[in-house]
Amino acid sequence: MTTPHREVTVAGDRPYRIRIGPGLLDDGDTLAETVRGGEAMLVSDRNVAPLYADRVADALRAARPGLRLHRHVLPAGEAAKTLAHFADVTHALAEARLRRDASVFALGGGVIGDLAGFAAACWMRGIDCVQLPTTLLAMVDSAVGGKTAVDLPQGKNLVGAFHPPCAVIADTAALRSLPARELRAGLAEVVKYGALGDADFLGWLDDHADALLTMDDAALADAIARSCAHKAAIVARDPFEHGERALLNFGHTFGHAIETEQGYDGLNHGEAVAVGMVLAARLSEVLGLAPAADTARLQALLQRLGLPVALPSGLDPDRLLAHMRLDKKAQADGLRFIVWDGVGRARVLAGVPEAAVQDV
Ligand code: NAD
Ligand code: ZN
Repeated sequence: MTTPHREVTVAGDRPYRIRIGPGLLDDGDTLAETVRGGEAMLVSDRNVAPLYADRVADALRAARPGLRLHRHVLPAGEAAKTLAHFADVTHALAEARLRRDASVFALGGGVIGDLAGFAAACWMRGIDCVQLPTTLLAMVDSAVGGKTAVDLPQGKNLVGAFHPPCAVIADTAALRSLPARELRAGLAEVVKYGALGDADFLGWLDDHADALLTMDDAALADAIARSCAHKAAIVARDPFEHGERALLNFGHTFGHAIETEQGYDGLNHGEAVAVGMVLAARLSEVLGLAPAADTARLQALLQRLGLPVALPSGLDPDRLLAHMRLDKKAQADGLRFIVWDGVGRARVLAGVPEAAVQDV
């Protein structure tokens, strides 16, 4: 941990760079080098735009004086991730008469990244999208990998496209305005990368938990870079989620069941995933795959990061099981879980007996 700037390259048909560090949203040259044409649309939400949109716009204009930069601001939160707001963004792109070489800047959390990314995927059958993630979850997860979507009343992320960004620029200083609970939710996804594939990283997180909670820029940049490198490697090997990419759902089968059962009004996603990872580790224990000590280690780290590690009281295990049967990642071959053979060694296991799941 010396200079707090990091860079990760995502391989693929169109490789792209993830740049990470404090102050990047004010770095006009870094922002401008992502722009091919003479115009762009900045999409953000009502929480993030007042904090950062002018700064991004000023930095871009200073570095690229002729740039025609438009702006579209959406309401904040998951409730905005709809086809209606997607349509609003496409209408704004049409009003601005953006051409094929224009860029969309997605400035915000995963909601803005997914929605603006989907609009960029569809406008003129696909224009450049630059992801400017401002939540930790977006920096380590949603901005990387190219999945974009909006929700329908029938379910989350049902309409979308694979549209990798042309660049990701993650300003760690922007995390300082993020509510603490949102930062911790992102840390759950960071822990996930260690848990599923990198025992050494989990050890590093043990050593740097306090630095992360106090938002030390170098610790944050390292954690984000290592998380992105893991996601990038997995996505490069399995861009369309036919196999290995499923490992990224470690803790998510349980987590999604908790979120669904609570009507998305209890634990947030990261908190539900934290509980879900502990349950996945316990399931691995029950199945005789991994030692109890590894569960204890994961649980201790999550607790230090201020995350929940047990099911909220009042949740009915039978109802959670029913949600898991309906999970879109469940298959005909019975319940499918991401289990582990111990810290850093996750794998997909099909045909998990319901009795074992009941047990945990
Ligand atoms: P979010 O975008 O709703 O952001 C959380 C809240 O923080 C919002 O109210 C937002 O306005 C506010 N906020 C964002 N940045 C801020 C900042 N720097 N300072 C102050 N406030 C700020 O939620 P999220 O957790 O970032 O993302 C969740 C979404 O990401 C979900 O819709 C999920 O489906 C999606 N997701 C997508 C992928 C993918 O691969 N595409 C992966 C994981 C999650
Ligand atoms: Zn997640």
